[in-house]
Amino acid sequence: MALGEFELIDRFFRDCGTPRADVVLGVGDDGALLRPPPGADLVAVSDTLVEGVHFPVGGPAASIGHRALAVNLSDIAAMGATPRWALLSLTLPRVDEPWLAGFARGFGALAREHGVALVGGDTTRGPLTLGVQVLGTVPAGEGLRRSGGRPGDALFVTGTPGDAAAGLAVIMAAAGAAGAPGAAADHAMAGLRADASADTLEALRQRFLFPTPRLGEGEALRGLASACIDISDGLVGDLGKLAAASRCAAVLDLDALPSSASLAAGFTPEAALRCTLEGGDDYELLLAVPSAHLARVAAMPGLTRIGELRAGTGVTLRRRAADGTLTETPAAGAGFDHFAG
Ligand code: ADP
Ligand code: MG
Repeated sequence: MALGEFELIDRFFRDCGTPRADVVLGVGDDGALLRPPPGADLVAVSDTLVEGVHFPVGGPAASIGHRALAVNLSDIAAMGATPRWALLSLTLPRVDEPWLAGFARGFGALAREHGVALVGGDTTRGPLTLGVQVLGTVPAGEGLRRSGGRPGDALFVTGTPGDAAAGLAVIMAAAGAAGAPGAAADHAMAGLRADASADTLEALRQRFLFPTPRLGEGEALRGLASACIDISDGLVGDLGKLAAASRCAAVLDLDALPSSASLAAGFTPEAALRCTLEGGDDYELLLAVPSAHLARVAAMPGLTRIGELRAGTGVTLRRRAADGTLTETPAAGAGFDHFAG
């Protein structure tokens, strides 16, 4: 390596995040010494991004740095926790200093935005792989789980899921579909509108490249949401996980799903709906709310009520037909003609 491992860590990662008083000892020793506040539950999450699997080969370095941290912060948000410390395991095919500078810029900007200290990690040579661990805290006993939902709880989602998969489809279409990693995005490419404006496509690309971890929302939902999960594998799939953990069935109101103006302008209705239901990479929060807390959650900005939990198992898609009647279709195995309606 042109630059030694120690110089590399020193130059790009020693001061990458936020300095914090609860870091007794950070980068440079065999381990970090961290001082959690007394009485807090420690929340630990870990997520890895592999080039060509979780992002297209040759993606912008700043986006890869941002996403490597964002996917972990999203897990912290889904637990209702506050992030404090991060570890970064970096596997690099070569020392490419401009790439490292871009990566550290993307990672560091998001870390500083959320007050996260980078306290250690590992640096090795190999196919480009970013392993990140984040530690956070939550007041004892208040961490949000997937399993607390009950029949009758309302379902809410943050933001406008589907934009990231659509953005990935835009990126793949521009690259001639090289290294296509996502099924929903793959399908969505066929629904890309020829008349979509450059601004529309760029807005969607940005949602894939720089997703927003919903940390403020997650903290605000402590004590209000009965169950919470972040959407990393698609709304329907992750709703299935929340419902199963809560031993409930879930009903999703297709007519209530939030959708961004960019998604509607950039893609056909069928492709847009598919992105919203099946697209990964949004990192929005999906949550259940008991009736006692409904008014408070409904008043929060950026959340949309999209369905409910009920007794049973599985996910059902509900939509109102032109004549006003409600139709229900099981999501498992439902062809997309059902969704196109
Ligand atoms: P060791 O030989 O004990 O495994 P290393 O030489 O791998 O230690 O790392 C030296 C220090 O640099 C440690 O504090 C480690 O946590 C930190 N470190 C290594 N790689 C990174 C990285 N990519 N980002 C942040 N800190 C790192
Ligand atoms: Mg050591």
